Parts: sequence; structure tokens; C-alpha cells
Amino acid sequence: MTEVAGLDTIRGLVGEPPEVIAIPYKLMETEEIARQGWNACYIAIIPYCFKCKEPLVWHTAPREDNTMFHCPKCGREWRLSDKTKKDTATTS
Ligand SMILES: [Zn+2]
Repeated sequence: MTEVAGLDTIRGLVGEPPEVIAIPYKLMETEEIARQGWNACYIAIIPYCFKCKEPLVWHTAPREDNTMFHCPKCGREWRLSDKTKKDTATTS
């Protein structure tokens, strides 16, 4: 049997991540479903900055610039890259 420490399952990044990283809206929806399921099994899903090995700060309502998470250490931001149906309706 092989045991692997959880953090070692993170696929390593090559190079320097950008300062602002886009998250597809669909991916956030999938994350929400997965998180609720895992939380019910007493397992946390914690978004984590690859660069700093630091848990991200969540913005439970995205900022005006669509920022969903930021890293408290390096300040990188993760923003929704596309708008919800509601947003598109109000801007078009
Ligand atoms: Zn960071």
C-alpha cells in the first residue's frame, strides 16, 4: 500500500502563475456541488495558492471585478472569467 500526503497530490506548476487568474463560471458551479458533497462527508475542499501554499480568502459575493478568491500572501486574484446569465441580461 502506498500512502501519499494530501498536499503532495497537487500537480506542480511550472513557471510563475499570473497575478490574475480566470476561473470559468461552470467550474465554480461544479466546485459548489463537489464541496457540498464532500462537506457532508466531513471533508473540506480548500482552494489553495500553488505558489505560496496558502489557503485562499473567499469572496462569498464576488467583488465588482468578479474576484472570487485572493491569496493573503502574494495577493494573486482569481476572477470569474465569464458572466452569469443574470449579468449578461443587465449588460447587453
Ligand atoms: Zn499566493
